[in-house]
Amino acid sequence: MRVLAVGAHPDDIEILCAGTLLRYRQEGHEVVICVATNGEQGHFVLKPEELREIRHQEAQASANLCGAELIWMDIPDEFIYHDHETRMAFIEMVRKARPGVVITHNPEDYHMDHRVVSELVFVSTFMATLPHVETKSPPTARLPVIYYMDSLAGAQFIPTEYVDITPVIEQKIAMMECHQSQVRWLKEHDNIDITDFIRVMGRFRGLSAGVMYAEGFRRLEAWGRGTVKRLLP
Ligand SMILES: [Zn+2]
Repeated sequence: MRVLAVGAHPDDIEILCAGTLLRYRQEGHEVVICVATNGEQGHFVLKPEELREIRHQEAQASANLCGAELIWMDIPDEFIYHDHETRMAFIEMVRKARPGVVITHNPEDYHMDHRVVSELVFVSTFMATLPHVETKSPPTARLPVIYYMDSLAGAQFIPTEYVDITPVIEQKIAMMECHQSQVRWLKEHDNIDITDFIRVMGRFRGLSAGVMYAEGFRRLEAWGRGTVKRLLP
């Protein structure tokens, strides 16, 4: 199976679903990480054009640790809109990834970029199947199942499915630590120790799932998106 995880910013995937991606890899599935925006606004000192390059390298290093392919869309951070051009770019991205399962932000998440990405994933996974919507790559054969990942600190999000990430928690944190520019930024801008944050969140979801560390998800319920199998690890 091919698994596509789409995050708005470099490091969203690491915080919210990297454990699950690592588990998919352990089970032999192919994983594609797509980062929609370049995260260029996440620094007090570095200018956007400088940070953008650093964050691309950090995202690539993290994807390498996971054994995942990285698709870097390079849309300006905080300025992603659901317009024609962006929708077409998402359709092409989905066609390149050819996923059976897609993981992305839940539609009510806290950040507007997350909400826009969630909507773009919803529409582009359908439109990628349409033969007369032309992009570089050929249309996909079928609609993928979509899972919404947790929100930061689980705010306003009630998972319906869990993945045991206990065996890979240290690797998940190692992926986050590839984003050194953000480890510092999150401390200075948001007063968050991100390593501690990831452990506490994993432990909290683990309490519901009956394991030490877990990640929580909700499957998109819509016509054509159902499944008779469990597709999460
Ligand atoms: Zn984000």
